[in-house]
Amino acid sequence: MSSVWTETVKMPEFGTLKRDIRTNVLIIGGGMAGILCAYFLQQAGVDYCLLEGREICSGVTRNTTAKITAQHGLIYDKLLRYGGREKAGLFLKANQLAVKRYRDLGWLIDCDMEEADAFVYERENRKKLEREVRALEHLGYPAELIEHPNLPFETVGAVRFEKQAQFHPLKFAAAIAKNLHIYEHSPVREMTEYFALTDKGSVAAEKVIVATHFPFINRRGNYYLKMYQERSYVLALKQAARVDGMYIDGEKGGLSFRNYGDYLLFGGGSERTGKKKDGFEQLREAARRYYPDAEIVTEWATQDCMSLDGMPYIGRYSSHTPDLFVASGFHKWGMTGAMLSAIVLSDLVQGRENEFALIFSPSRNILKPQLAINAWEAMKGILRPYGGCRCSHMGCVLQWNAGEQTWDCPCHGSRFAYTGEVLDNPALHQMKRFGKMKKEHADG
Ligand SMILES: Cc1cc2nc3c(=O)[nH]c(=O)nc-3n(C[C@H](O)[C@H](O)[C@H](O)COP(=O)(O)OP(=O)(O)OC[C@H]3O[C@@H](n4cnc5c(N)ncnc54)[C@H](O)[C@@H]3O)c2cc1C
Repeated sequence: MSSVWTETVKMPEFGTLKRDIRTNVLIIGGGMAGILCAYFLQQAGVDYCLLEGREICSGVTRNTTAKITAQHGLIYDKLLRYGGREKAGLFLKANQLAVKRYRDLGWLIDCDMEEADAFVYERENRKKLEREVRALEHLGYPAELIEHPNLPFETVGAVRFEKQAQFHPLKFAAAIAKNLHIYEHSPVREMTEYFALTDKGSVAAEKVIVATHFPFINRRGNYYLKMYQERSYVLALKQAARVDGMYIDGEKGGLSFRNYGDYLLFGGGSERTGKKKDGFEQLREAARRYYPDAEIVTEWATQDCMSLDGMPYIGRYSSHTPDLFVASGFHKWGMTGAMLSAIVLSDLVQGRENEFALIFSPSRNILKPQLAINAWEAMKGILRPYGGCRCSHMGCVLQWNAGEQTWDCPCHGSRFAYTGEVLDNPALHQMKRFGKMKKEHADG
């Protein structure tokens, strides 16, 4: 089923690239990150074009919950402890700036922009909340620990960030994209640093920004080690008590809440893509428990790229590619992540410095525990002696997802319809089948 956003907006349409062109900056991928990069470059008078493989916002952006906040879970205590004051302070400053840029733009556009407080709650571990508030005090941010968040179960409190925002992501994207230089249905099939080939045309560019959600060039940057994808589920509930704020659990796999109009957007069931049996059923059960009188109006699932340290990868694709850039690894905070990509990359492609470039650099230290888990999952998937279905990205064995009737890759999160077509990247081509399919899989 589709998200509440797709039903309530008409997106602008763009033609397909049918010739060979030249431009200064090529942006690949028309989700929130690519569109905001294009918008910033247009504002700066830079010659650019954007290639989108399907229609704009047909990836993760159409399925987000669209909370705009500098509060990314309980990240500041971790950043302060492991990265130091300067890094944590810059991360906070960058995300506050991103929130402000959305609010400045959003008030001028019909996109249901609303001010809302953001909360991270804990159900048992109050110490984590106290540490987060202390870390934020240390950084000079006035976060508050509140005792009774407006949620349908007991908690031990929540950390509040006041005056953040929530909006309709597709109304926003439609409004800012309508006058941009975009080609739709123009997937990039092959790529060198300065040249992109689509089915009917090509683009030669001086600089290229890859904003394709999971970066698709494997030979540079090691993104297949630096990221995995996490899949989550969302229900839009009617007749559920209002929460009037944006809530997320401080623990992995917890529940998320925000209102949109009369609906409660109720999220959860998160797990590494390819690992989950049925996240929808787990979430429906939670909805029945906490909101027995509510009706499920629609439900959807989506996934995001998880970086090694909770911060996005925004900057040069690798240290060996001076003119190839990337915006990815948003860790489920890709609204501010997309805005930060536009802020940082619009400077870098114009040869300007940006104060946040260093902390988001994709070439930063990757020696984190998650790296070993990513490498282990990939090795298991690739070396597993089993026929069945394999991913066209790096050859990992795919897992059948009975709840969604898809083949999912636990290594890097590519997903395929039961017919074999790619639903989610990094895979670019049909899945590979070895041997005979079980009947229930072949029938879908
Ligand atoms: C359940 C869930 C809830 C979330 N909620 C929030 C939230 O409340 N707040 C928040 O800040 N973040 C949230 N996020 C994260 C956020 O939605 C994403 O990080 C963000 O939408 C990603 O945008 P993007 O532009 O990078 O990717 P996408 O929107 O996926 O765009 C990538 C585009 O690239 C195109 N593309 C891919 N390959 C090619 C190619 N070869 N050639 C041309 N085009 C190509 C695709 O078709 C697609 O349109 C959430 C994520 C999940 C999973």
